[in-house]
Amino acid sequence: MRAVVDKDTCISCGLCVSTVPEVFEMDDDGKAVAVSDTTEENKESVQEAIDGCPVDAISDGQ
Ligand code: SF4
Repeated sequence: MRAVVDKDTCISCGLCVSTVPEVFEMDDDGKAVAVSDTTEENKESVQEAIDGCPVDAISDGQ
């Protein structure tokens, strides 16, 4: 499972990248993208990023 960012909604605030840098990066277009899968180890941090996104642009990929 990998989180999915709706690029049309993302406002490029960078919060998800700060919260889980091993999963989220800023893409060339300045929008966040999930570059690795959600794991047992990082799932709580990924959920924190999902909950923290100010525009609800991240889904858990399910
Ligand atoms: S927290 Fe949300 S709005 Fe901010 S960069 Fe990540 S996906 Fe985009």
